[in-house]
Amino acid sequence: MAGGFAKDGAVQDQIDATIEDAVARTRAQLPSGESLTNCEECDAPIPGGRREAIPGVRLCVACQAEHDKQAVNLSGYNRRGSKDSQLR
Ligand SMILES: [Zn+2]
Repeated sequence: MAGGFAKDGAVQDQIDATIEDAVARTRAQLPSGESLTNCEECDAPIPGGRREAIPGVRLCVACQAEHDKQAVNLSGYNRRGSKDSQLR
């Protein structure tokens, strides 16, 4: 099972890096200090904890997840992933 574990770890490492990257990029795009109480897109209430965790948050969790997915796709996930693999 050792081989399987190493493979899973490598994939997870790449996924983690991609998520961190997407989060960092998303945060950079958000205006800081202006959190909305309701989602900009679907008008769902945004929990206070989420507004504090992400200053300037404008989307609910569901809409933010959709935006993150699109951001990852636009950035070229595969190209970036293979570059990271070579560096490691
Ligand atoms: Zn929403």
